[in-house]
Amino acid sequence: QDNKQQQQQQQQPQGAQRAASDTEPLIIEERVQIVNGEQIIKRYQRGSLLGKGGFAKCFQVTNLENKKVMAAKIIPKSTLVKNRARQKLISEIKIHKSLHHNNIVKFEHVFEDHDNVYILLELCPHQTLNELIKRRKRITELETLCYTVQIVQALKYLHSNRVIHRDLKLGNLFVGEKMEIKLGDFGLATKLEFDGEKKRTICGTPNYIAPEILDGRVGHSYEVDIWSLGVILYTLLIGKPPFETHDVKTTYRKIKSNTYSFPDHAPIPDSAKALIQLILQQDPNKRPTLDEILAHPFINNGGTIPRLLPVSTLTTAPNAS
Ligand code: ADP
Repeated sequence: QDNKQQQQQQQQPQGAQRAASDTEPLIIEERVQIVNGEQIIKRYQRGSLLGKGGFAKCFQVTNLENKKVMAAKIIPKSTLVKNRARQKLISEIKIHKSLHHNNIVKFEHVFEDHDNVYILLELCPHQTLNELIKRRKRITELETLCYTVQIVQALKYLHSNRVIHRDLKLGNLFVGEKMEIKLGDFGLATKLEFDGEKKRTICGTPNYIAPEILDGRVGHSYEVDIWSLGVILYTLLIGKPPFETHDVKTTYRKIKSNTYSFPDHAPIPDSAKALIQLILQQDPNKRPTLDEILAHPFINNGGTIPRLLPVSTLTTAPNAS
């Protein structure tokens, strides 16, 4: 079926490569201007749908020139008519493009055609920590440590480049080919102009939002990512987020009043509770720094933390040893 559609497409004139049964063509063409006004065409084969975001669809794609497999975020230009939406995408691309770290989803390339903007990213074949927690319910202390250290490394890199992610959540923590953590989705990220700058506005609804953002009267900075890291730590160990309720308003009220507890059915070490409590403080200035988190007894406990976990842990807990 796919083959047949492809053949049909190849026989069609340029610009008419739209399969009637689907909204995206099977071959994506990138027109590249080269010197003396000539044009070359790079072709990418569209594979399976990886997921849908707010406006974007994400597909697996293969660069037909070198067979490199990547993830392509396809954003219809029809969603970018408002200036704000366009500026947001430009900012996301500019920030993401500037980042180079093993624990951050690699930004490969960006191009556009008449209908869409295409963002090519490193393919993360093992989904995100969100799907992992859905499958496993919660993960072990050792796995949590392994992932946390990698998330902290990604954040240290970001913050040292004056970038705040602002939407740190399990669904934005991708798992790479070798089971590395890859932080992605810079749609709400911001780059500070100078040290000490405070941000006030934030568009979108981040999941693991810090109280100072809800407060609105004060600005926010890097500490909002530290807060979200605390929420992530809790969620990995307990199996559900600390302030989760049936509606957003109640959740926001709980965040503002710092109301959460550690359930008896999922006992965790006292050192883990201590670190979570240290991070989930209302006053952003009282939260630990990333280095203080790495030095905390829960993380720096004298044991060895595996650098990577086996693929089997995507579905089954590792053997305690
Ligand atoms: P959102 O609007 O949720 O931020 P995105 O447009 O960034 O979503 O991505 C939509 C979905 O595509 C994600 O939830 C995920 O399932 C998938 N996805 C995004 N980036 C990648 C990637 N680099 N590798 C694999 N899957 C990805």
